[in-house]
Amino acid sequence: MQIKKNMPYEIDENSYSRFEQKNNMLYRRLWDKSLPTYGKMFEYNIDTHISLGEDGYSRIDFALVAAGWTVYENFPFAFSWHREELMDIGYGVDWMREKYPVKDLKTFTEKTKKAAKFYGASLVGIADVDEKWIYKTGFVRPASTSEADSKEAIRKGNASNSILETPVNLPEGIDKVIVMAIEMDEIAISTAPAQPASAAAALGYSKMAFTIACLGEFIRNLGYRAIQCGNDTALSIPLAIDAGLGALGRNGLLLTPEYGPRVRICKVFTDLPLIADDINLRFIKKVEKFCKTCYKCAEACETDAITKEIDPTFEPATISNNSCVKKYYVDVERCFEYWIENSGDCGNCIAVCPFSKIKSISTPSEFWK
Ligand code: SF4
Ligand code: SF4
Repeated sequence: MQIKKNMPYEIDENSYSRFEQKNNMLYRRLWDKSLPTYGKMFEYNIDTHISLGEDGYSRIDFALVAAGWTVYENFPFAFSWHREELMDIGYGVDWMREKYPVKDLKTFTEKTKKAAKFYGASLVGIADVDEKWIYKTGFVRPASTSEADSKEAIRKGNASNSILETPVNLPEGIDKVIVMAIEMDEIAISTAPAQPASAAAALGYSKMAFTIACLGEFIRNLGYRAIQCGNDTALSIPLAIDAGLGALGRNGLLLTPEYGPRVRICKVFTDLPLIADDINLRFIKKVEKFCKTCYKCAEACETDAITKEIDPTFEPATISNNSCVKKYYVDVERCFEYWIENSGDCGNCIAVCPFSKIKSISTPSEFWK
């Protein structure tokens, strides 16, 4: 094993292979018949939950969650790699065609970050593109098609699995990635695993779609290219770490100094001339030390999906992990089983993490007050 210790990662370079998105649990459940969650999604248990009358699992709670996804699921332009045509929306288009001549790289980088925050990002960082984190193959959405429309066929099992195995290659010259973290509502997350927490995640996804679409157009209006991404195209967490936004926690999530794991991550790949941020090594060291003795997320996990080992390892828990990197691996098969049982994502490991800075835990009823 040839281990490259290029902080913040220890990687088995000989064995590392780019992740195939079809192994992500949300896709694996569509094709892997060995899984107890094969063919299942959140609707599986909803009627039972509603009829039981549990706090945080009412029809109103589920309505909140499903509506939170609205922009993410229905906005066809959200995850575009380019715009189909230069449309005049009243500002003319000629001035958009030529590349904006960047004279002061530092000021221009600051303005680009300001634009990202203006459109909705809570945190912004910039990294040089590292091909390791780009999916080897994945689900590539047809142009100008919404998430809901483009996935309808595979959700219903009508599409060939090969649609999940399209080779992912960034166009030549796309060498920077703007990574954005979007804060999720503190009170809603504190109700985890009840549905208001799931609604906070859903809303986070819709905010991602809105933010990357506006930032993508800002970049194109300056004559450069923009590839708008949510969880697609590349692994968001290592890109966020490269962009200086935080560190990887025991719970398998990005911990940020500001909001801990209480964020969603999105990114825009671009050829804009930008200055990359430094990795936040100080924070990474702090998290490494903290997670060794803090087991709050592992203790809060209903399905023991989070390891209680003291040290990180190279041993993946399932084929759904991006392996050959030294870290705490999460058994995402178990995690997803709980999500199906819960009729929504869970978020316990976000709510209890001290880095999330949740001041007090609320019940779902308190959330609605
Ligand atoms: S989301 Fe819930 S089930 Fe999944 S790892 Fe976190 S605590 Fe465990
Ligand atoms: S809860 Fe504790 S162990 Fe888990 S990620 Fe947060 S700091 Fe690390």
